[in-house]
Amino acid sequence: MQNGNQAPSESGAGRADCTFCQRTEISDILKETRHFLLAADHAPLVEGHLLVIPKRHYACYGDVPASLDEELFALKDELRRFYTQFYAPVVFWEHGVFRQTVFHAHLHCFPWGNLEYDLESNIHTAVVAQQEDIRTWYHAQGHYFYLEDEKFALLFAPEMDRYMHVIQHVFQKGLASRGGPVRPRSPQQRYAEGRPLIEATLAKWRTFERQEVT
Ligand SMILES: [Zn+2]
Ligand SMILES: [Zn+2]
Repeated sequence: MQNGNQAPSESGAGRADCTFCQRTEISDILKETRHFLLAADHAPLVEGHLLVIPKRHYACYGDVPASLDEELFALKDELRRFYTQFYAPVVFWEHGVFRQTVFHAHLHCFPWGNLEYDLESNIHTAVVAQQEDIRTWYHAQGHYFYLEDEKFALLFAPEMDRYMHVIQHVFQKGLASRGGPVRPRSPQQRYAEGRPLIEATLAKWRTFERQEVT
């Protein structure tokens, strides 16, 4: 959270110690907008695992200013079209700062389809109606994690039991539905096995882009 309280670098060079600012962990960029990159996760869980990363250093999306919302929403809409056509409806996921491995905001995109999350279960802490809700939470409470499908956008307090519930009930189900390996794999293993998945995603994205311009 301390990260987020400092103004992002104006130099454009980013943080020397950040693998996303330095782009050392970003190898395949599918699209670049003024303030965001759409990139393949370099250690994908499944084919179609993408990341939306602000170019500037922010700790999480709760720290990304409202002036970038419109650009972010346009990119998310494009991703909704892409996933629905080539995979299944997209699920967006953010660790916030909680259990993040890279301390630079990034929104994971997964082809999980609709989550069948039961709102009655109250595993979530708040239903997110607008992006401002995430910023308000972050500035007041700090950490969170975030899950969005076609129906709901949900914010979770950073507690291990909530987190494990989402991993077990949402991610494991999603992995199974996409024919992915449900056994846990280390990031190193996912990285080693990731290249064909990334190439397949890139090929679909190129097809999608050709359609969008014609
Ligand atoms: Zn960074
Ligand atoms: Zn992540």
